[in-house]
Amino acid sequence: MKVAIFGNQKFEVDFLLQANARFHHDLVFFKEGLHAGTASMVKGFPAVSTFPADDLDADTLAALAEGGTRLIALRSAGYNNVDLDAARKVGISVMRVPAYAPSAIAEHAVALMLTLNRHIHKAYNRVREGNFDLNGLVGFNMTGKTVGIVGTGKIGTALARIMKGFGCEMLAYDVYRQPDCIELGVRYVDFAELMSKSDIVSLHCPLTAQTRHLVNGKMLGLMKPGSMLINTARGGVVDTAAVIDSLKSASGLEYFGMDVYEEEGGLFFSDRSLTIIKDDAFERLTTMPNVVITGHQAFLTREALTEIAEITLENISSFEAGRPKQENLISA
Ligand code: NAD
Repeated sequence: MKVAIFGNQKFEVDFLLQANARFHHDLVFFKEGLHAGTASMVKGFPAVSTFPADDLDADTLAALAEGGTRLIALRSAGYNNVDLDAARKVGISVMRVPAYAPSAIAEHAVALMLTLNRHIHKAYNRVREGNFDLNGLVGFNMTGKTVGIVGTGKIGTALARIMKGFGCEMLAYDVYRQPDCIELGVRYVDFAELMSKSDIVSLHCPLTAQTRHLVNGKMLGLMKPGSMLINTARGGVVDTAAVIDSLKSASGLEYFGMDVYEEEGGLFFSDRSLTIIKDDAFERLTTMPNVVITGHQAFLTREALTEIAEITLENISSFEAGRPKQENLISA
């Protein structure tokens, strides 16, 4: 099938080409992001594959449908960037990669926790400058601390396994109780209790109308002094302005690790080092010593990229054969 690959990054091209040796699709790579202004570039492509930064709003989908596109193959699990109602209306099916190497994201959450806790980002710079002063670098033992996991699906469960190994107590909040997590010793509580009792809160739920700004000023106000918030889920789960206020007040939340950001569209996934970033909230966060930011890279392991490429191309093949893999089909 003729497939337009949007928003492709150098790091994933080889994985897609390698996987395609088995599927034999006609892949055409577009460096641009997909939005209403670029949708007309792919007239005549029955399948379009997209990255989380692409904007699949009603206008984009209408333009794609007009050009003959019948399938959107997301190279991601999250689909908050797609207007599914609009896709249905214009007759475009949407498929995703529901699971790929969940431990990649869980391990990145742990990397953020340990970096913040042991001040690795500060220590790295100090040592390079010949500064071996240890003052200001005191951390805490993870063993015995309480970790609150918000969303115990595939990634949250992978995190629970790692945290159990660290000897942490584990609380969780989810609309569904995962038996594997209960077996690992996770105790389900309501969200307010999780926020008030956890030393570290790690977010692993999808961004939906119910979870938008789940972590808001009121909930941040419940956090213990010296606590940490880690967001590798989606930026919108957190009210960024409230997090900045909370960090500035220095009364509860002390550390913030984020891999995703509410306004990451138009910011992440490209080199902006020679431009002036106009997002003041983001820039404020970059100035704080107790904030570590990565640019949506929690998924970025060889294993995850291999799985994303293979499942995306397999989704396209199943659609082409008229039997789209039902568990990966989110809109038809
Ligand atoms: P999953 O579907 O396996 O698990 C999500 C869990 O969240 C489920 O247990 C679900 O019941 C729970 N949930 C849904 N609505 C909720 C609500 N209102 N309140 C509490 N819990 C709720 O998904 P997953 O594979 O574990 O991925 C979780 C999220 O991680 C994705 O939606 C995506 O946004 C994010 N993600 C980020 C990256 C990254 O690179 N940073 C990569 C992959 C996924």
